[in-house]
Amino acid sequence: MKKAIVMFSGGLDSVIAVHLLKEQGLDVTALHFVLPFYSKVGKNFYQIESYALDLGVPLRIEEEGEEFLDMIRNPKFGFGKNANPCVDCRINRLIKAGQIMEEMGAACLATGEVVGQRPMSQKMSCLYKVENLSGLKGKLLRPLSAKLLEPTEIELSGIVDREKLLGISGRTRTVQLAYAKRYGLSHSSPAGGCLLTNIETGARFNDLVSYSPQFSLVDFKLLAYGRHFRTSPHYRVIISRDEEENNVLEKLYRPGILRISLRDTPGPLALGLGKPDEAELIFSASAVMRFSRARNQDQATVIIDKDGKSSIFNVGAADEHELDKYRITSKKERN
Ligand code: SF4
Repeated sequence: MKKAIVMFSGGLDSVIAVHLLKEQGLDVTALHFVLPFYSKVGKNFYQIESYALDLGVPLRIEEEGEEFLDMIRNPKFGFGKNANPCVDCRINRLIKAGQIMEEMGAACLATGEVVGQRPMSQKMSCLYKVENLSGLKGKLLRPLSAKLLEPTEIELSGIVDREKLLGISGRTRTVQLAYAKRYGLSHSSPAGGCLLTNIETGARFNDLVSYSPQFSLVDFKLLAYGRHFRTSPHYRVIISRDEEENNVLEKLYRPGILRISLRDTPGPLALGLGKPDEAELIFSASAVMRFSRARNQDQATVIIDKDGKSSIFNVGAADEHELDKYRITSKKERN
């Protein structure tokens, strides 16, 4: 049985791509890429695993790291509306997928892309551009739009019957939804793109690039978590929003970073990055208090740890005006 790899997000289109190739008797592996935000900080894959399991295919997970940063620091094809370098991102993933295809001895690499579905990366011209630049010219199958595209090697060789593939284009998902219903396929609800397409992540990313152009993997991961405040070009503080984020921030805590938490009450964990002065330390402590259950107390004790040394601050809760002044947000960028 010939092997095939399908780039898999668990969304409607990639689920259908897997199903179409399985129906043609291929031995399919679903390949899922994980953005650096989530790698090694405990994102669970239960849901995506369950979609692969329902389809009866193995799931291979590839976590992205430093190589993603090299790309996003200077994307050749620029950004979409926010911090999303979709064209470069797809090229890089396809290059990796092509390597995995070789390594696994697979005959086919496919995606769930649909012509004209996304403004930037799924225009027909862009689909070809991405295919060529990832060294997969003629080799990359898009089973959902295949009938609208040039036949690929895998179709020409007869391994896949082009007539049994689809010819979908455009943004509506009527055909896909009908297909999923007909075959009882489970999938995640359609999403507009990854976190980088979000306007607030875009604002955080712009802030990071402006003040720390050589940002680290930890800096990048932190864009996805907490409330972000910048008090000066030299310092910013990130405060968790819930217990899950506390756990993530704890994992991202490193030498050189400040760890800020309440001494006597459970509450948010904050990480301070840079070189704060005394006033910035006090703001950090009072902001942590503001987002805790101790917010209505006159004072709370906050511990700031750095490189094995602890300092204690007795502070009141930060007020809204102060928080707004320092908050990193897209609203401020537009003012
Ligand atoms: S939406 Fe995000 S993951 Fe998808 S191609 Fe764009 S940058 Fe990459």
